[in-house]
Amino acid sequence: MSRDWLAADLEALASLGVSLSLEATAKRGASADFGGIVHGQAVAVLAPRSAEELARAVAFAAERELSFTARGTGRSSGGQSIPSHGVSIDMSRLDRVLGIDPAARTLTCEAGARWRTLLAATQPHGLLPEVMPLNLDLTLGGTVSVGGFGSNSHLYGFSAASVVALEAVTGRGERLQASGADPLLQAVLGGVGRAGLITSLTLRLRRAPPRLRTFFLLYDDVNPWLSDMRAHRARFQHLDGFCSASVQGMRSTPRGRRPFAKWFYGLQATLEYTDDAPDADVALAGMRPTYVVHAEDSDQLAFASRADARFELMSQLGAFAHPHPWLECLLPVAALPQLLPRVLEALPLALGDGHRLALLATSPQPPLIAQPSGGENAMFAVLPMSVPPPLLPGVLEALRAVNQLLLQAGGKRYLAGYLELDGAGWQRHFGEAHASFVALKQRFDPKGVFGSVLTSTAETVPATDAS
Ligand SMILES: Cc1cc2nc3c(=O)[nH]c(=O)nc-3n(C[C@H](O)[C@H](O)[C@H](O)COP(=O)(O)OP(=O)(O)OC[C@H]3O[C@@H](n4cnc5c(N)ncnc54)[C@H](O)[C@@H]3O)c2cc1C
Repeated sequence: MSRDWLAADLEALASLGVSLSLEATAKRGASADFGGIVHGQAVAVLAPRSAEELARAVAFAAERELSFTARGTGRSSGGQSIPSHGVSIDMSRLDRVLGIDPAARTLTCEAGARWRTLLAATQPHGLLPEVMPLNLDLTLGGTVSVGGFGSNSHLYGFSAASVVALEAVTGRGERLQASGADPLLQAVLGGVGRAGLITSLTLRLRRAPPRLRTFFLLYDDVNPWLSDMRAHRARFQHLDGFCSASVQGMRSTPRGRRPFAKWFYGLQATLEYTDDAPDADVALAGMRPTYVVHAEDSDQLAFASRADARFELMSQLGAFAHPHPWLECLLPVAALPQLLPRVLEALPLALGDGHRLALLATSPQPPLIAQPSGGENAMFAVLPMSVPPPLLPGVLEALRAVNQLLLQAGGKRYLAGYLELDGAGWQRHFGEAHASFVALKQRFDPKGVFGSVLTSTAETVPATDAS
């Protein structure tokens, strides 16, 4: 257990020659996140310029039993990157690309590098990271610490699965290298910054033909939408499934009149090509969309940054300042035809639409990323642009009910979003793997240096289970 930082501890840390800020704006920023719902207290912000500086600071904290919380860009939304009462570590200055090996198809970079930087470095070689998130401004370290999913996760799974080697600073302040099945690698990929801080990583790349054609398809029923995605998943390099609401007006409910919608199911199905653009008849053969709405060509840079305009709009509308109770959940695909319409019905229309669905490859994934067992899985994500503060209590109540529905169907929450997890919740989340989650923490961070508001209960054993 760590203790609270005192002014004397901060002075002693600063005297090590590390880059420490006590400035109010920096502390305020590090005490909140994109979610805007959970808050903590950053007593200072450390922004190391090298892995050696970071290791020195962690060794200091371990010796004095003090705590640190790693932060990439703070785009998680449930307190993952917020200290309860401790020093925030801003990883964003560790942002260099250290090398690309086109023959081996790998890239090595520091963990605070953004996906946009990787895209710029790899694309001239005709290569790309296997799985990139839609938001290219997230850090590599922050993304693989929760998983990282994208529109080609049906082929490659999580971004974290592409990490072939890394260096991390453990809770003792040691700098260790790890690769393959090394326990340190398993402890930090999907480990929400609990066992060690990733300083650099080597990522597998894929060959990427220069051009892409995207078909925008719309279905009026969940079943053909799902079966087309599943049956033709190998044909398309990218598959973006989403749910689209056609609002039908207000209807009576036990709680008064409420807006309601007829749901449609969209699919942006993308093929990569080099010379000739794929023909729609061939590309969509055997598929059953209600409408083929649009087709569009782009190059790899334009495609990878296709969501930038949405994020710019969020910024212009001031949406970043409002709460984001984002809910992402891994679900068994077999449950979706029954489950998804019920979930859509239960989601308040104040959350908007565009809820995403991505199929996940069944190949081996980092063990700390909890998934429904025994079959094909998909990521379902409710990612509202923002929720007006007066509506938040009602929205959270509805999301708790939806969370229950998802967990009862065997779902496992993706740890990037807004979560309300107590000790029992963490145990349920990991199931049998909870013991190894705790053991990895004990092994690499025995003094409990690393933690956050979200993970403060991660190793608590509920009283009923402890007896
Ligand atoms: C607009 C938007 C779009 C998004 N799109 C996607 C998407 O397409 N796909 C997707 O998967 N996610 C997406 N996300 C969610 C996002 O991937 C996660 O929230 C991710 O963790 C954010 O990266 P970050 O750099 O902000 O990390 P933070 O939120 O700062 O940190 C996340 C966690 O990682 C830990 N951490 C950070 N750096 C390190 C490190 N170097 N070593 C160890 N632990 C570390 C932190 O302590 C924290 O627990 C999106 C989020 C937003 C706001």
